[in-house]
Amino acid sequence: MMKVVIIGGGPAGIRACRTIKILRPDMDVIVIRPEAKSLIYCAMPYVLEDKIDFEKIYKKDELITGVGASLIKASVVAVDLSNKTLDLDNGSRISYDRLLIATGAEPILPDFVPAGLENVFVFKREDHLLSIHNKLKEGAKKAIVVGAGSIGIEMAQAFKHKGLETHLIEASSHLLPSILDKDMSELVEEKMDENGIHLHLSTMVSEVRGNRFAEAIVLSDGARITLSSDDIVLFSVGMRPNVDLFKDSGLGIDRDGIIVNERMETNIEGVYAAGDCTSFKSVIDGRPIPGKLATNAVPMGKVAGRNIAGRQDYYEGFVNGAATIAYGVRVGGTGFNETVARKRGFKNLIVAKAETTAMFPIFPEPGFVKVKLIVNADTGDLLGAQVVSTMCVTEKVDILSMALQNKLSLDRIAKLSYSAQPYQSFLPANNAIVMAAEDALRQLEDRRRG
Ligand SMILES: Cc1cc2nc3c(=O)[nH]c(=O)nc-3n(C[C@H](O)[C@H](O)[C@H](O)COP(=O)(O)OP(=O)(O)OC[C@H]3O[C@@H](n4cnc5c(N)ncnc54)[C@H](O)[C@@H]3O)c2cc1C
Repeated sequence: MMKVVIIGGGPAGIRACRTIKILRPDMDVIVIRPEAKSLIYCAMPYVLEDKIDFEKIYKKDELITGVGASLIKASVVAVDLSNKTLDLDNGSRISYDRLLIATGAEPILPDFVPAGLENVFVFKREDHLLSIHNKLKEGAKKAIVVGAGSIGIEMAQAFKHKGLETHLIEASSHLLPSILDKDMSELVEEKMDENGIHLHLSTMVSEVRGNRFAEAIVLSDGARITLSSDDIVLFSVGMRPNVDLFKDSGLGIDRDGIIVNERMETNIEGVYAAGDCTSFKSVIDGRPIPGKLATNAVPMGKVAGRNIAGRQDYYEGFVNGAATIAYGVRVGGTGFNETVARKRGFKNLIVAKAETTAMFPIFPEPGFVKVKLIVNADTGDLLGAQVVSTMCVTEKVDILSMALQNKLSLDRIAKLSYSAQPYQSFLPANNAIVMAAEDALRQLEDRRRG
């Protein structure tokens, strides 16, 4: 019987396991992960904000065992990819015919932070969540969140909700810099500010002072925020792939993780990798791009699973659709924002925008939806999009991700066939995605006319 071992019980590992067992019940599939219970990471900030009970964020082991796979709760501590064996921290050795590495990523704590400070945290595992939860229960009064990506934005709101004096520190000149451009993040900034979160933009943490606990944070503008041992400093400054175990294994690894092809194969035959531990490419320009999102880990896990099960399946690249919410303002983006597009060599851009109300404008409070498209002016290709609204943005972001994945022309996007309903959209006359595409087409035409 073909024996498949999966290291990691996150979204990539679980999805691969289920895919293999559903396609090939005859294969012996074993998932190895250390956690007593797997977590829904995306929901963790909302536990701290009292929006969900703790027990709701645990995934059931039946996701794995229910399809006939085995689950071993242990850590892999050594690998021998030539002899196809893994050593576990429980002393056992396990062999495999095919291996899937889905070890994820871990949050980065910058090197300049002294080790072992008891009020300094990162946020990913259950022990991080429990330690911060305990700090809040014990009467923390101040929170410093470093990094204003989605996790930073969500955690700052949770700390503020718990009554803490909350500071959000971001090196970029605006919030959510990897999703939004400055013009689209202004409302998030306004909302965070209005709700009493102290924003420190274009600011870096230059020093963390303290021995047993962080007593003060010194910022690049010279400001100093003092702290007590009860207070909280949270670094949410990105993730690094969890690949130390494979350093001398012969696997091809770069800064973003284990290098995989479109079949999720590594450079070693029979060894696959998927999810946050991998280095992969953008679907837009085919060049490497970070993509540490559950919405990438899941399709990668499925593709790896299908290929391990003997099918031929391909994952074309990251689109990186992502979203978050700040005090009722929903924001999301997909593909490249302007800054990322320029950094990747697209110098000649068209920026198109449209705005409608989120409901029929005849309602007393119809809200709004803003769409921004970033287009390569040389080719007319869509490079990325951003959406800000008082209503859900994810389905609009997904339409635009679909356009990017399928390399739809602006003309096709402008011909999108959409639905309209008084409580859920603008009048049938207009749709913000279509209007933005029409704006981009007009600008392209103007440029071509000279
Ligand atoms: C607070 C937070 C909020 C997030 N919000 C979102 C969101 O809204 N949307 C979104 O798309 N993404 C979100 N993410 C990112 C998302 O959670 C990750 O991209 C996703 O979990 C990656 O899945 P994975 O399976 O690749 O890795 P992981 O989920 O990290 O799983 C890795 C697994 O490997 C195991 N492992 C590691 N080393 C070993 C070893 N040596 N032996 C055995 N097992 C090992 C780990 O213990 C774990 O079980 C969020 C992340 C966090 C932390």
